[in-house]
Amino acid sequence: MKGSPEYIQKLQDELRKTSLGHDLIRTDKKEDKDFRQKDLVSHFILRLAYCRSEELRRWFMQQELDLFRFRFLREGPDSRDEFLRENSLNYEPISDDLKTELDGELRAAAGSKSGVVDTIEYFKVPFTEVFDLVSKRKVYLQDGYAYVSRDDMISIVITHYRSHLSHSLAVTTRALPHLEEDGRLLPMLCGLSKRYLGQDFNAKKSNVGEITADMIETLSKKSFPLCMQQLHQSLRQNHHLRHGGRQQYGLFLKGIGVSLEEAMRFWRTEFCKAMDVDKFDKQYSYNIRHNYGKEGKRTNYTPYSCMKIITTNPPGPGDFHGCPFKHMEVDMLAQKLRGQHISKDNVEKISKCVKTGHYQIACAQYFEATHNIRNPEDSASININHPNGYFLDSYKLLNGPKEGTKPVPNTPKVIKVKVEGTGTPSSQTNKQSDLNDMDDDDLIASMETDM
Ligand code: SF4
Repeated sequence: MKGSPEYIQKLQDELRKTSLGHDLIRTDKKEDKDFRQKDLVSHFILRLAYCRSEELRRWFMQQELDLFRFRFLREGPDSRDEFLRENSLNYEPISDDLKTELDGELRAAAGSKSGVVDTIEYFKVPFTEVFDLVSKRKVYLQDGYAYVSRDDMISIVITHYRSHLSHSLAVTTRALPHLEEDGRLLPMLCGLSKRYLGQDFNAKKSNVGEITADMIETLSKKSFPLCMQQLHQSLRQNHHLRHGGRQQYGLFLKGIGVSLEEAMRFWRTEFCKAMDVDKFDKQYSYNIRHNYGKEGKRTNYTPYSCMKIITTNPPGPGDFHGCPFKHMEVDMLAQKLRGQHISKDNVEKISKCVKTGHYQIACAQYFEATHNIRNPEDSASININHPNGYFLDSYKLLNGPKEGTKPVPNTPKVIKVKVEGTGTPSSQTNKQSDLNDMDDDDLIASMETDM
């Protein structure tokens, strides 16, 4: 929950893990100068990377606004005033006479019976500057003006920052064609929004031990995220998956600890219910070995992150890959959830998140609902950014970590991106990021078998 003590603590911890300095906006300390510089540079790089589509822009703005709100609220009163002055946000408090006149209304809007209203300064601003307060009925409105308390000034500042950032992103988008003439920048910027920096889920590092083909059916019901359940069910029903589904599901299975031999057994058993073994061996087994680095460039491919699944290769008719929270109609999704006996309240909560574009939060709520998590502290620690992370968390919750296996620390790693001409980042230097984009062998295999 944004603004909750758990949220603030987590954000603070995450910020401290980065090299972007502490959590304040304004600081005159000399030692913070370097951090501040990095913070600025990273912000502008992200603007370039995230201005390319409406969806990316919306996501980026939301994160920036959350970060700004967090930092602004940690400033002292003098520092906040200074910030407003520096940014020409000069709002005059209303007079004491007017405050006395509106005392009852202000008190009602603040939900306060005590004397708090007497001690707080109020500002009269056009209601269009504080939509969020209006929607929450937290301000008194009169003649198109809202009376905002000093404590709620953040809403005004956020509105200004939102419109400034939105305009800047639009300007940056228009400048992109010029930037793209420089072949050194393009590959890095294009990949940045899809890059995943969390734990590396590949078969060698799976910490739940080996998973055999026979275990997959049971695990899919208990511990798979909805995207993988959907792929599994459609495979069981149709005895076939198209290329996008085979890639997404195959790499996920590899990441949870299914060996190449077991993967081959699993896919062969299912596909051969609808075709003969020869056809399977000729058309599909290459792809499976390829994902395990045994064919083509022999790259050890990593499972797809949520970001990649959500932002790339949307499913077409006959496809079952993608993220159901993003790619399924909300009504269909709600029906599916109800079919899994998820309570009405939870279905509504999840649908609300989906409608506002918070797909991973919707997935975290699905996790809570299906794992019966009620403790707010536990739910604050659920953070879904990878289907394999979802599986691991679920498996540990239901079974505890397997004995004799070392937990894999969930620490972000720095990725070195090697940019060569206009090519994509080298797979050797960027193992954890988008290795899964199709290469030539992949493409050939998919053309042969995508039927
Ligand atoms: Fe799968 Fe991630 Fe979507 Fe959850 S949010 S369904 S794990 S892609």
